[in-house]
Amino acid sequence: MHTDPIQRLILELGRLPGIGERTAARLAFYIIKASSRAVAEGGQPLSRDLAHALIEVSDKVGLCKECQNLCAHERCAVCTDPARDRTVLCVVEGVADVRAIESTGSYRGIYFVLHGALAPLDGIGPEELKLGLLVERVQQNACREVIMATNADVEGDATALYLAQLLRSTGVGVSRIASGIPLGGELEYIDHATLSRALSERRSVY
Ligand SMILES: [Zn+2]
Repeated sequence: MHTDPIQRLILELGRLPGIGERTAARLAFYIIKASSRAVAEGGQPLSRDLAHALIEVSDKVGLCKECQNLCAHERCAVCTDPARDRTVLCVVEGVADVRAIESTGSYRGIYFVLHGALAPLDGIGPEELKLGLLVERVQQNACREVIMATNADVEGDATALYLAQLLRSTGVGVSRIASGIPLGGELEYIDHATLSRALSERRSVY
């Protein structure tokens, strides 16, 4: 449709979240300029590096069979790490949350990524969040605790409550992170110390 390659690059970059047309144009011009400079200096152009990285994630990255985190293999690095405590499972809304909790270095259990939160009005129900798979994981690992680390907003709270009820029959203990997370707070934007404390000071749901 767009025969002009510069226009096409601007258009594609503009599809990214938080990137308006002006920013897209600025990024496109930067990529073009940096790439031609690298070529002139005998180096590898940024444009090609970016293109290869994008093709590689599109070809190789999928969801971990166990926790639904993004990974380039069947199972992610956390799920295949024998040092992790498989009896403690932390439920998060997104992959960025796993990254945030991992960066605190204080959590040694495993995860389950929902890829969203319950939002019936938007058509996101238990099926979409693969909650059946979560129950399966809890049972297979004979988990003793499931930590609800969904966001501290309405959807996150509702999801945690729904899950707690769903897991009741499995006999697992359920806790919810609370302390230090501001109301409406999204995990991925919270600093390490606060997140670390929120995890260690979690309270039991039942
Ligand atoms: Zn995994």
